[in-house]
Amino acid sequence: MKITGDFHTHTIYSCGYLLKGLHAKSTIEENVKSAFDKGLKTIVISEHGASHYLYGVRKKNLIKIRNEIDRLNEIYSEKGLFIMMGLESNLIGLDGQIDVDDDILKMLDILLMGFHYGSTPKSFKEGIDLYFISQLSRKHGYREDEITEAITESYVRAIKKYPIKIITHPGAKVKLNLLKLAKEAEKKDVALEVNSRHGNLSLDDLKMLKDINVKFYINSDAHKASEVGNFKKGIETFLLSGLDINRVINAI
Ligand SMILES: [Zn+2]
Ligand SMILES: [Zn+2]
Repeated sequence: MKITGDFHTHTIYSCGYLLKGLHAKSTIEENVKSAFDKGLKTIVISEHGASHYLYGVRKKNLIKIRNEIDRLNEIYSEKGLFIMMGLESNLIGLDGQIDVDDDILKMLDILLMGFHYGSTPKSFKEGIDLYFISQLSRKHGYREDEITEAITESYVRAIKKYPIKIITHPGAKVKLNLLKLAKEAEKKDVALEVNSRHGNLSLDDLKMLKDINVKFYINSDAHKASEVGNFKKGIETFLLSGLDINRVINAI
């Protein structure tokens, strides 16, 4: 199995109000060059959504990112590498709200969505449920089934409301009902990620999803240029699962 595109990479713009380079280390051009050197056909620059207090992209930087990607596409597209502007948006409400608006959506080529602590919730109450109760549930089994269902339902609402194409590292930071999410994702043509950095989906997750025809991406979630195209863990996990490799959208 060969992966031809990395649909999840971060650059120095994933830095919130902090100094650039504290969270993700490389520039867009450095990520792109790394993708080119590794023979990839596609790279997505997908910064953290703006609501993340520590790592979120500043909204005013989105236009700079768009312009830089357009500039680099003029150079690299004729060499066979296509660069896309993505965003790893954050779930911020139990009603499925994520941290994008129409202006942001218009700028993007592809929308990703994941769950991260440190995002500014839609309301104080949602913050308690999303970031505090969910952890009590995950780590100590507190109201486990109820909370898992509520968070899963908020993912489902998000994919019904927004043009999300990839759910990043499902289950990495919060417990989900993956069977339910996968069934809904299949209906909406949304793929689940096998994330080589976090190890989610896991081998057990993939085996569980064998009979649901949801699609996958295997991505690096690179936080520096040298990690772009690092799919080793994702590929190993996927091959062990025995699932059909044709279900991986960015594989040949
Ligand atoms: Zn993430
Ligand atoms: Zn990420």
